[in-house]
Amino acid sequence: MPEEKNIKNTVLKGIGVSPGVVTGRAYLFDRLDAQISFYKLDKAVQKTEEIRRFREALRASERQLKEIKSKLTETGGLEPIYIMDVHIMILKDRSFVANVVRQIREMSVNAEWALRLTIDKYRDIFEKMDDEYLRDRFNDIRDVGQMILRNLAGRRQEKIAPLGEGVIVIAADLSPADTAQMMIDKVLGFATDMGSKTSHTAIVARSIAIPAVVGLEKATRQVRTNDLIIIDGTAGLVIVNPDPELLHRYEEKRRHYQTVREEELKYAKYPAVTKDGCRVRIAGNIEFIEEIPSAVAHGAEGIGLYRTEFIYINREELPTEEDHFLNYRRVIGVEGLEWATIRTFDLGGDKFFSDPKLAKEMNPQMGLRAIRFCLKEINLFKVQLRAILRASAFGKARILFPMISGIEEIRAAKNILGEVRDDLKQQGIAVGGDIEIGVMIEVPSAAIIAAELAREVDFFSIGTNDLIQYVLAIDRINDQVTYLYEPLHPAVLRMIGRVVEIGHRAGIPVAMCGEMAGDPTYTMILLAMEIDELSMNPLAIPKVKEIIRETTLKEARRLLRRIMKMASAAEIREHVEKAMRDRFPGLLAGNGA
Ligand code: PEP
Ligand code: MG
Repeated sequence: MPEEKNIKNTVLKGIGVSPGVVTGRAYLFDRLDAQISFYKLDKAVQKTEEIRRFREALRASERQLKEIKSKLTETGGLEPIYIMDVHIMILKDRSFVANVVRQIREMSVNAEWALRLTIDKYRDIFEKMDDEYLRDRFNDIRDVGQMILRNLAGRRQEKIAPLGEGVIVIAADLSPADTAQMMIDKVLGFATDMGSKTSHTAIVARSIAIPAVVGLEKATRQVRTNDLIIIDGTAGLVIVNPDPELLHRYEEKRRHYQTVREEELKYAKYPAVTKDGCRVRIAGNIEFIEEIPSAVAHGAEGIGLYRTEFIYINREELPTEEDHFLNYRRVIGVEGLEWATIRTFDLGGDKFFSDPKLAKEMNPQMGLRAIRFCLKEINLFKVQLRAILRASAFGKARILFPMISGIEEIRAAKNILGEVRDDLKQQGIAVGGDIEIGVMIEVPSAAIIAAELAREVDFFSIGTNDLIQYVLAIDRINDQVTYLYEPLHPAVLRMIGRVVEIGHRAGIPVAMCGEMAGDPTYTMILLAMEIDELSMNPLAIPKVKEIIRETTLKEARRLLRRIMKMASAAEIREHVEKAMRDRFPGLLAGNGA
């Protein structure tokens, strides 16, 4: 290959998905680097030997995946390790295994080549699928194929970054499992060609606090292993081979970022009250119980969203009532947290394609997901509700139902909850007296019938991640349309404003728990809309609180009035970003806002 000149001082722009600034050497993580050998087999005994090698590689791969899983558990890994379960499932998939064995037998080729033929076959099938989400599921098969190939070659790659600690990983794409592995490998940061802000890989990066930039498109072509790299996960920038001056500036920035964070943490526990006395309740979103200490440390007053579907992952059997209970018992009534919002499980969509029933759907995001799934699998739902009710005896609990699209669903959910409560009472089991019931407003129809829904519940929680994707018809995990995913679209703002007004008119509080709630760019707007509770990634809390404390409701309303007159999302964004930059220059420095 011709020697290319290293690029210098090049700034690549992407989407910052996990804040922080970090400098280090690049390591290009190429998942497709295996050279695949090919040879013909002519004797039956050779075929038997190849099949044995293949099966041995399958077993080795399974052992390795299980090891990663258990290491993650030991190191307090909080990430969606369910991906590894999916990979184990593929390793054990009868038709996948049978296909490779058949290729060895019928084509008389070595195990590596038979595996390649099989993976190519799967690629053909997946590429023909109309649904982009399903097409992307081929990536899991490719990942598993790579792992088996490594084992066939006797090479076992335990680490994402073989150079050890302290590198920055550059990759075309990373699965949530890869990201989790980076925590074990103590990687400093990562940057990828693909990805979007709300993909689960991004969510994992934020939860393990590794600065990360995704959606760079060509980073793997522009960066080479050992290049000096700065990742600015706050601004969404990657700087390749910076000159000493730029390096110096970023070193300052990194220190500043750290001091700001330490400074912010000092005040994180103070309430979010504006200078003119408007108080916003601030809560944390968690996927795992282990995140609670971080939520408390970052100033969460309660848990505004516990994504309980994560209890279903990483296990071979369905969770029992006791499994559920033990989790809820650890989040309800925790010292330092005033309330805990348990969202009933939202299986489906981009979350758990590990369930074969869900995987068959052509459009899982709009398929049998969340409350729809619960109302079909009532026994499963009841197990969870019993556990929540039992745990509610220990502190202030709220139950939140996801993906409600009509009044029948919330009524049905409440009826089932009532039945479960009666059963528990009959059995003499204690249940909390003041448990609140809420609906997520994340389907446009729910926003439209908010007045009717408000009569059924004690609170609303706006799920902007889904609401925006459905209002704007943007697939939130499809990086092709990320540019259209715009929380500041007037349609989105009007819809949110309307939901808050209707909720308040009905006398119920309105929370927001989508990613929008934790982005400081939007804090003034959400404040002006008088959202009662903002629930977010715990790391985002200190900044949001500080903005609220630094401003007045009056000032925020002025900004809101201005932008609500604008018809164009781009115009609104320009105005809001400038206003926020001017108003909070120190706080939003490097925020990309
Ligand atoms: C949302 O949709 O905004 C939300 C908070 O739920 P999730 O991201 O889990 O779908
Ligand atoms: Mg949602």
